[in-house]
Amino acid sequence: MNIEQQIKTLRNQLSEHNYNYYVLDNPTISDFEFDQKLKQLQELEKAHPEFYDANSPTLRVGGEITKNFETIPHTFRMYSLENSYSKEDLEDWEKRIEKMVDGVVEFTCELKYDGASISLTYEDGKLKRAVTRGDGFQGDDVTANVKTIRSVPLQLRGDYPPLFDIRGEIILPFEGFVKMNAERVELGEEPYRNPRNTASGSLKLQDSAEVAKRPLECLLYNIQGDRVPIKTQFESLQKAREWGFKVPEAAKLAKNLDEVLEFVNYWDVHRHELPYETDGVVVKVNSLQQQEELGYTAKSPRWAMAYKFKAEQVSTVLNQITYQVGRTGAITPVANLEAVELAGTIVKRASLHNADQIEKLDIREGDTVFVEKGGEIIPKIIGVDFTQRDPNSSPTQYITECPECNTPLVRAEGEAQHYCPNTAGCPPQIIGRIQHFISRKAMDIEGLGGETVALLVNNGLINNYADLYLLKEEQIIPLERMAQKSAENIINGVEASKQIPFERVLFGLGIRYVGETVAKKLANHYKTIDALKNATQEELITVDEIGERIAQSVVSFFASDETIAIIERLKMYGVQLEISAEKLANQTDTLKGNTFVVSGVFTKVSRNELKKLIEDNGGKVSSSISTKTNYVVAGDNMGPSKKTKAESLGVAIISEDDFLQMI
Ligand SMILES: [Zn+2]
Repeated sequence: MNIEQQIKTLRNQLSEHNYNYYVLDNPTISDFEFDQKLKQLQELEKAHPEFYDANSPTLRVGGEITKNFETIPHTFRMYSLENSYSKEDLEDWEKRIEKMVDGVVEFTCELKYDGASISLTYEDGKLKRAVTRGDGFQGDDVTANVKTIRSVPLQLRGDYPPLFDIRGEIILPFEGFVKMNAERVELGEEPYRNPRNTASGSLKLQDSAEVAKRPLECLLYNIQGDRVPIKTQFESLQKAREWGFKVPEAAKLAKNLDEVLEFVNYWDVHRHELPYETDGVVVKVNSLQQQEELGYTAKSPRWAMAYKFKAEQVSTVLNQITYQVGRTGAITPVANLEAVELAGTIVKRASLHNADQIEKLDIREGDTVFVEKGGEIIPKIIGVDFTQRDPNSSPTQYITECPECNTPLVRAEGEAQHYCPNTAGCPPQIIGRIQHFISRKAMDIEGLGGETVALLVNNGLINNYADLYLLKEEQIIPLERMAQKSAENIINGVEASKQIPFERVLFGLGIRYVGETVAKKLANHYKTIDALKNATQEELITVDEIGERIAQSVVSFFASDETIAIIERLKMYGVQLEISAEKLANQTDTLKGNTFVVSGVFTKVSRNELKKLIEDNGGKVSSSISTKTNYVVAGDNMGPSKKTKAESLGVAIISEDDFLQMI
């Protein structure tokens, strides 16, 4: 078999396995075998860029960066649906329809998923473009991100039409959502509020590799096209399934409205058994011919209706409002409730968000409150039953002092959250910061977990992350649940963390607003902690992607003498507080002061490698051509609009070889 055939065979095999796993939910090989094949394909593609394919399964892992999402008009407008809330609403709708069309009307019933709407365009069986709903007339091109979603076919199967759009919803199953939040909490970040917003936020991430890490799914149910040989909505679901799309199984062809209501009533009860959020049923006139006769109002199709389930709600007594202090000092009020069953689980606590929310709803201890579980995993209080209120109760006084250290709280103008400013002395902040420092994406200290950190702090053995490096085995062994072996593991883990590169140490320091990506940018730009420490706010803002808010936070972080003392100690203990000599050796100033735009497909290095080469040599990478651009590095298939723009602005267009010559 020649190389090209080998590549094609691997691509076909991987697509097939991907389909079995993510669409049919029926894997036929192990994850290990799959990864082996994927790796093999990656290597072959890297060695033979001439066989590049924009829809290769290797692109599932992402890597493409989108700075500005291009606005794309929808070929077929994306309408929103009219809502109904009762049997009567549906009956009225049926009457209106029967006046407008002849013959028997049948309906398809489908579940309504709560996610981010998406429109996919397929040309000759290949995914050409993915566009968000936007305002219904035009949306954002999020193709690079959508390609990483495993259940979106990059190549169709069977007998598909040459050109069509298919619409559906990108959703985040509960299980994946809970897992993502657990990781965020581990990193000391705020958990996401609900799967829906998280799914739509994911589509607009700039780094598609980040999207690839999220367990998103794409459910499809609506085909649009000029020459698509389909006669009914129910048939279109079956066809879409045949072509390789993930189409929800829970769909029914109903001969009349009674059968529609059966479907509605069944799922009103059983929806909690589904792996993802559904908030209702979509009922559509089945015949496409009849759909055409019915047409559209200004906003919605007349042939479809959304039926919304009632959000599950219960009332219970609010016993007490307590307050939690996070790693950054943020205060979160929590409602402690009389235990009550809601949507199949026992609820004892509900989120109250912040002081404004409590004031707005006038929530008081002792009140009977209405609790709802909507898209959020954590139930929320949506109101008070004022008929049950004790006439002697008085409005809730939000705390003015930290519940943990009694320091007066502060609230910055325009911010909803109160903060405890006692960063150095407030126990949950001290513990939270050290927990963040040792977490997987920061120092990754093995053998040391969040609870152990709390134990060490509470026993007075450590008070900040620098203290970790002075820990001794004999101090740890006498503690609760500790033994020789676990103490050894901690000491070894701490020792090993001295090899963790600067950018991760910087992330671990826990500067507010400095996440993984920002830490990397700052580390690469300033190269040492001392240079970063001395940077002024004005200088920081000139660094790519660093805004006012981050700059301010960095400056105030280093303004504290205590922080400086801790950093000096980390330095002394051998923690990496500058970029390693090896990494520096690969960096030059050759391209300093030059801004590059990279466009097209390259043969000797990948697009990402090219960008890295530019940055390592002191140049700047920008995503769009402007008067500030010095060079456009053009590969094959450079976009014609970019080319025209570069020429009109007189920007030099150079080839990959020209560029490699420069460095
Ligand atoms: Zn405090």
